[in-house]
Amino acid sequence: MTSAQIIVLATPVFLALIAFEFAVGLARRRNTYRLNDALNSIGLGVMSQVVGVFTRLFTVGLYTLAYEHVALWPLSASSPWVWLGALIGYDFCYYWLHRGGHRVAALWAAHVVHHQSEDYNLSTALRQTSSGFLLGWIFYLPLAVLGVPPLVFGIVALIDLLYQFWVHTQQIGRLGWFDRWFCAPSNHRVHHAVNDRYLDKNYGGILLVWDRLFGTYAPEDAREPCVYGTRAPLRSWNPLWANLQVYRDLALDSWRTQAWPDKLRVWLKPPGWRPADVAAKWPRPVFDLKRFQRSGRYDPRISEQAAWVAGTLFAVVLLLTTIFLWNAHRLAPWLMAGLALLIVGLLWAVGLVTEPAADVSSDMGSDMRGDTRRDGRRGVRGAEGAARDTAPAAAYASVADAPDSGHERVRPR
Ligand SMILES: [Zn+2]
Ligand SMILES: [Zn+2]
Repeated sequence: MTSAQIIVLATPVFLALIAFEFAVGLARRRNTYRLNDALNSIGLGVMSQVVGVFTRLFTVGLYTLAYEHVALWPLSASSPWVWLGALIGYDFCYYWLHRGGHRVAALWAAHVVHHQSEDYNLSTALRQTSSGFLLGWIFYLPLAVLGVPPLVFGIVALIDLLYQFWVHTQQIGRLGWFDRWFCAPSNHRVHHAVNDRYLDKNYGGILLVWDRLFGTYAPEDAREPCVYGTRAPLRSWNPLWANLQVYRDLALDSWRTQAWPDKLRVWLKPPGWRPADVAAKWPRPVFDLKRFQRSGRYDPRISEQAAWVAGTLFAVVLLLTTIFLWNAHRLAPWLMAGLALLIVGLLWAVGLVTEPAADVSSDMGSDMRGDTRRDGRRGVRGAEGAARDTAPAAAYASVADAPDSGHERVRPR
């Protein structure tokens, strides 16, 4: 069975748990879902899986190549200790990749997709990047050197990813000792928060021990509710733009600066760092949590008809994706490419339908101030409106306004 097929089998479970979390939220009058945001997050997960079918050949190929040539002592896939060691080793490498993903701009450009949602629920877990294949593989090469067979590597990678699904919820509170040892809802909420005290914390995938060992652990504090999203809000439902947003900003700063070393530094420095000449000429406001909260979440209103169109298109996407992922390994390349393009095109159309023309300008990084005053308004759909009306305000007040940084810690996350 291919890993794409395992994802297909897991999808109904994911969707059922999302429906369950939504029902629990309604029952508790603490709904955390908006339809437009959930469609966008799940759509980005679909896109990352579809793109992953093509890029997996690249990442698994490179891993296998490294294993065949530099493994110090090939380990046996029949030993349970090898599996356990590989899982812990993978989780360790994941910690450093994830930490790099928040501290190195070029890596953040890929990882940002997971953080763009201004809500926090199980659909956020599915929100994954489509460009992680570019640099992510480098972080796992030590496992190839240690002799972890490609098959074991592929499966522990999947376990690490699937584990992280359940932690993306606000319906589960703190879990005592568990929160200090394992990635869990409470400590992962902290990871997704833009509040100063929570920024760049809790990177662990399964084990949170790495954060405590390497000084990046922060527990959730009830007095400081998490505010979700990124400090440079996406403010768009376009899945292509979601994947390109930070690359475009970095490329622009790198192009504009007159200082040659800075052209490279832009990509290696922490996100939000900008060359002095570029920051002086094209300044960006410093991040301010209060203003950020006042601006409200991105939530363009659309007609009920448009919502139905989006929902129908999305159902077609799910159907096509199931067919694609299940059969990808035996489809002709032209058919694979055609289906993939169709799926991505339909996802883009879903974004377009849920994002009125007036809001599309935000895509190109223009000042969205005029469009940000949406807090307190009911969305067109029940779930959307309910979220805002019943949630604790602080938990939902969210990103907006301030498009990223100046120089210091005013970066997106
Ligand atoms: Zn992260
Ligand atoms: Zn997460």
